[in-house]
This record gives sequence, C-alpha cells and structure tokens, in this order.
Amino acid sequence: MPDKILNLVNGIRAQLLDDCIDRNEIPNADNADIWIINNDKAWNVKIFLTSLIRHPDPKVFLKPVFLQKDLKKTYKEYKNYNLKHLCDGYIKELDIQNKIPSIRFILNFIKNISASVSFSEDDLLKKTLMYYYSRNKDIEFYESAASLSGYSYPRIEAYYDGGTEAYVKGRDLLNGAYKSDLLRRNYVDTSHICKKCHSGFLNYREECPKCKHHNLQARVLIHHFRCAYVATETKFWQGERMVCPKCSMELRNLGVDYDKPGKVFYCLNDTCKNEFQKPLIGVHCINCKNEQAPSELNLEKIYNYELTQKAISEIFN
Ligand SMILES: [Zn+2]
Ligand SMILES: [Zn+2]
Ligand SMILES: [Zn+2]
Repeated sequence: MPDKILNLVNGIRAQLLDDCIDRNEIPNADNADIWIINNDKAWNVKIFLTSLIRHPDPKVFLKPVFLQKDLKKTYKEYKNYNLKHLCDGYIKELDIQNKIPSIRFILNFIKNISASVSFSEDDLLKKTLMYYYSRNKDIEFYESAASLSGYSYPRIEAYYDGGTEAYVKGRDLLNGAYKSDLLRRNYVDTSHICKKCHSGFLNYREECPKCKHHNLQARVLIHHFRCAYVATETKFWQGERMVCPKCSMELRNLGVDYDKPGKVFYCLNDTCKNEFQKPLIGVHCINCKNEQAPSELNLEKIYNYELTQKAISEIFN
C-alpha cells in the first residue's frame, strides 16, 4: 500500500513515508513535492536517508525531506546517526508554513535542472554543489563522538561506507573542490588525529623517557633548608615524623625549615624505577591501538565551506 499523500498549505503535496522506509524502497518522486518521515525506527530511517543521498536522480536526492518533531524523542538515543543533518530537519505537526519559500526554491530548482543538467552518477561533487545551492546553505561540520575524527560532514560522508573511507574520501572531495575554486573555506578549529587511522579518539599520557612505561607515580620533592638536601618525600618519612636522611634533623614546619620545590616522576616498572622530572608524552590511539608521539599526529584544520560563484555557474553548465 503506498504511503499517505496529504495536501498541505499552498498546494504542496506531502507524502508520509513509513512502510517504504522499513523496506528501504524509494517512492515515486513524482507523486509528492515533499517527503515526511513517519517511521520511528532510527536505524531504518538512517539507511533510507542514506539511500536518498546516494540516489542518482536529482528528483530524489534534492527532494525536501523532513522529520517530525513528535518522533524526536524516539530518535534522541541515536543522535550519532545525525538524522537531522541527513535531511531538511524537523517540522512540527506538519506545519511547513515558514519553510514554504525554501521548499518553493528547491522545487523550482529541481524542475529547472531535471531538464537541463546532466551528470554522471558518480559525480558526487556536482551532486553536493547542487544540494547545498538548493538549500542555500554552507557545508558545515558537526562534532560527533561517533565519527572517526570527531569532526564530521554527515551528508558528504553518507556517500561512502565505513568510517575510514567516509573520512578520507569525504575530506578529499571537499579539499578538491576548494583547490578547484568551487568552495571557499572558513577556518573553525584545529584537531590532532592518529597518523595511521585518522581517529580523534586518543589517549595522551606521560611516559618514562628511559623505558617508555606509562605507569608512573608523581612524588613530591622536599628541600631541607639547613643542609640543602633535596629528595622525594618518601625518603623523609619515619613513621609519623619527617626526618632528614642527610643530617637527621626533624622537619617540622613547611616554609620555615623545609619547602616543596616541585615534583618528580617515578617509573613503576620494576626493572626500571627511573626517577625523572620531565616525562615524555605518549599518545595511544583507541581506534587502531597505535602508539605515537604528539609530534607524529596528523594535524587537521577544520573548515566550513561555502559555494563560490564558479560553483554556481558550474551547476547550470
Ligand atoms: Zn621506566
Ligand atoms: Zn638535612
Ligand atoms: Zn589510530
């Protein structure tokens, strides 16, 4: 049974999509102007939206597609699916009043290009330019703990399977478009990612410079004023009292007969037991388990992108 078609304000025909989403079946794009997701299974919705984004027909991948606010709570648990960023966002109780100008713009654009624009199925760049032009939007990143590097362009990455491919090819697409003067970029942030797998899920910790072990203990240094002896606190404790191992005097008042000039690290590796002041910093990648020095990490600048005039002319060529 085809999903329900409603006539909304300004003669806009909306199709409520439910069963076809479970089957990941794209409805006939000519039957309605906009599609409204009426399915509460977040995973199925994600798969379906991905199919729309990857679809070769501009009538499908440019179709205005909305989620319903009523279902927002249901999707909330799956916020790493980025559903909102894979479509035109939420509407409340089928109210599209304030979206009518942008819907009209998109529908006109689809009508114009369906007749005049031809492009190959795998021309992802052209699809991307067309989409963002039709939405009058910049290509913006979103922070997401579920994405490989932590910074994601959900709609671009949806073209590809798997975290690594999505990251590498998605970034290549944007970078290539920037270099061809089709996108202008605006700097937002700098991130450090694993040199091997591009993951941003990294654990930074101090390491022993001698044996690279990272189970270290920070020990407080004591400086005895009278004899100028400096050693770690543990060497001064005798039961409840602190006694200088060099001159055997008792230490009573901090700031009067001794002070604490700093800390040293002690390596808890039994075969090392190194004591040192400056540890190395080691970076462990949670994703691929690789160990690296901070200087070895890949540095990535994060940008938002906007279409250039050249891009807009290319769309209509
Ligand atoms: Zn060590
Ligand atoms: Zn002393
Ligand atoms: Zn890694």
